[in-house]
Amino acid sequence: MNTTGAVEVAVRHILGDKVSGGFLRPRTRTITWTDARYVVKRPTSGKHTVELTCPECSASLLAEVRDHSSTRTIASVLRVLAVLCLVVFFAAFAYAIHEGGKTLPEGQSLPVLFSVSVIAVFVTFVAGPVLFVRSLSYNGVSMLDAPKPRRRHGIMPVRKASQGTRTPR
Ligand SMILES: [Zn+2]
Repeated sequence: MNTTGAVEVAVRHILGDKVSGGFLRPRTRTITWTDARYVVKRPTSGKHTVELTCPECSASLLAEVRDHSSTRTIASVLRVLAVLCLVVFFAAFAYAIHEGGKTLPEGQSLPVLFSVSVIAVFVTFVAGPVLFVRSLSYNGVSMLDAPKPRRRHGIMPVRKASQGTRTPR
């Protein structure tokens, strides 16, 4: 099978989401689901919409599938943004330490850039790993619409590491 023309996804049906404990025992959240695997065809260019049926409750889910090259482009953009976050994180962190460690003369406050750098440190600390994980799992398939309650379904990427289709750079 031509892997550039198709992508494997899992239609996830959430069975239960329970939070137990919290009083005497530690709080635990248990999410149970069933995954049904589908192979969806990629369009030769652009994007198209496919309908997937959840075998658990026969709900039909609409998914948008992008072509191979734009999927790769988006994945690399996400990776670049993740790297940028890393660069900004270290630059802002170094600046914040440098500026914050100074002994200021009486009556002088820290520059505005100091506050900006502190915010940048926090934002990139959260956004960087999120973008990086997204770039690894991005397969060009996104859920467009699902019957309500919408949150109880998801379309998850299926990693096919064993096939060796990923070309190392
Ligand atoms: Zn379902």
